[in-house]
Amino acid sequence: MTPTPRKRLACAICLRPQSACICRWATPVEHPVEVLILQHPLEVDNPKGTARLLHLSLPGSRLVTGEVFDDLPALLADPPGTGGAPGSAKLNLLLYPETPQHQTPGITPRQLAPGDLDDPARLRLVVLDGTWRKSLKMLYANPLLQQLPRLALQDVGASHYLIRKAHRPEQLSTLEATCAALAQLHANAGRLQPLLAAFDGFVAQQMDLRRLRGAGSPRMPNF
Ligand SMILES: [Zn+2]
Repeated sequence: MTPTPRKRLACAICLRPQSACICRWATPVEHPVEVLILQHPLEVDNPKGTARLLHLSLPGSRLVTGEVFDDLPALLADPPGTGGAPGSAKLNLLLYPETPQHQTPGITPRQLAPGDLDDPARLRLVVLDGTWRKSLKMLYANPLLQQLPRLALQDVGASHYLIRKAHRPEQLSTLEATCAALAQLHANAGRLQPLLAAFDGFVAQQMDLRRLRGAGSPRMPNF
């Protein structure tokens, strides 16, 4: 039996093989809070990853890949032309649980002040896309991230993310966690519903692909 050629034609938008293109699930939603997705390099080609679908669905998002982000100050600054004007500065919020046991000595996250979250248009949500271990590594490698005020999720329901191994129901995918955070910050969960519905379609597609590969190509990693 000849091995399957490694290089397959990729979709230029979602970067996946065309047979596994996820573009049909991209569901643009309105979101006043800006989103910066910092993606660990190991997630780029992970078929179960949700960051690209998230990015394709959030018009006000940026997706940057890396582990050490030398340009983080620029990424966290206002876009050129808006900086400096009174009241224009964005407040960066890190979507990450409080982890005092993993804090670099001398660095503590800024605490939120009353009223900080009142205007969604002033906020930028910073999301780390990686496994728990990798996201922690990103946090250590970028002390600036450790200084950001953190946003903890409230009242999170069970995850629909059934495709990642050893995923506990309360562990959300990057896409679900970001949608939950945006819903919390906008005080408007309905706005994100079309994207979460599309996410269920994405999960079903990944499960179908896994079944197909399981039958025909046992050498596929992680499936
Ligand atoms: Zn695509």
